[in-house]
Amino acid sequence: MDKLVIDDVELTGRRVLMRVDFNVPILDGKIGDTTRIEAALPSINKVISEKGKLILMSHLGRPKGKVVEKYSLAPVAKKLSDYLGKAVTMASDCVGSEVEAAVNALNEGDVLLLENTRFHKAETENDATFSKQLASVADIFISDAFGAAHRAHASTVGVTKHLKENAAGYLLQTEIESLTKVLENPEKPYVVILGGAKVSDKIKVIQNLLTKASAIIIGGGMSYTFLKAKGYEIGGSLLEEAHLSLANNVMVVAKNPHPHKKIDFMLPSDHTIAREKSHGEFKVSEGVAVENGWQGVDIGPQSITHFTEKILNAKSILWNGPMGIFENDNFARGTMAVAQAVATATKNGAFSVVGGGDSVAALEKAGLKSAISHVSTGGGASLEFMAGMDLPGISALTKVKKATKIDSE
Ligand code: ADP
Ligand code: MG
Repeated sequence: MDKLVIDDVELTGRRVLMRVDFNVPILDGKIGDTTRIEAALPSINKVISEKGKLILMSHLGRPKGKVVEKYSLAPVAKKLSDYLGKAVTMASDCVGSEVEAAVNALNEGDVLLLENTRFHKAETENDATFSKQLASVADIFISDAFGAAHRAHASTVGVTKHLKENAAGYLLQTEIESLTKVLENPEKPYVVILGGAKVSDKIKVIQNLLTKASAIIIGGGMSYTFLKAKGYEIGGSLLEEAHLSLANNVMVVAKNPHPHKKIDFMLPSDHTIAREKSHGEFKVSEGVAVENGWQGVDIGPQSITHFTEKILNAKSILWNGPMGIFENDNFARGTMAVAQAVATATKNGAFSVVGGGDSVAALEKAGLKSAISHVSTGGGASLEFMAGMDLPGISALTKVKKATKIDSE
């Protein structure tokens, strides 16, 4: 990696401002999924053990620049304190004199959590004065918020302009390294599985991976725009009319990306179909086409067999997007089968990466999260990374110039 990383910087005795992604679901003061807190622990523990003075900041939800009680990070401070087995001080704001005093009171190894950065509209505006204020209490900035790295905000980007050292934490580092591994020179066969609701959400990802993958498997709601583009009847299945020609172009390129190479572009050959709207009645389709009055809600048994076979042969796998409306148990078979196939391939030595909020939820439902090489914590951020886009929160970090190795022999 060409960025300064946490292991390469001096932390002892220094005021370390760390941007984490504590954007966790909170209902009535109770935290639901704690994955994001747990994911930040390695970097947090590193600063504590090195006797740095740790100042944590994060956003939570969308309070739109105002103080909204239900978006307070206070429950996270309590939870974090349980994880660390030590006190975590909570500041009632993220800038200002109270924060300055709290930072001055920090001893080596202490932890302070600042209040939600999005209580100020200057945060999402990436305002320079606000960024400077955030940076003013620290000696060094560490970014460990992969989930927010696609946003150019004050706490992710602006703050880096006002501190000399800006390094990547362990989580950010792992995310970058794992995602890069399946984007640049992945071991072949490289199978990319894409699903989810919309072609429009994923088209850039498809385009970026089209010439890199050995096979691209398309399932879920977005497969119907491709099937329609190929001339099949799709009944009441999801369709993005505006993307029909784009879908066609993709399939033309897949057929002949460059000389001597053809990508296996796989679409479902059958489906679970349900009565349009009500979903009251459901059955397996007769073939690729979907009857009028019915909607494709999951890939069918034959597709499951074909997809599984392909996945089990892979050496590298990238999966983003469920194969059907997996939230409904009746329509979850395809997604669960793909999760199982990716897990099995991983057990047999493949390197696998899964990204996307709903895909990760599906993995959890299947109880297979720990069977995947890397589960990305970023929804939008991993999508943009997979699309080959520059993430401002990563670009902003200090670059290390690789010293030319001089042979001393
Ligand atoms: P991710 O969050 O993993 O990137 P998406 O948000 O793109 O995934 O897509 C997930 C959503 O797509 C789920 O809510 C799922 O119900 C929906 N979906 C999947 N297949 C279909 C389908 N055939 N018809 C309608 N919706 C679908
Ligand atoms: Mg989603």
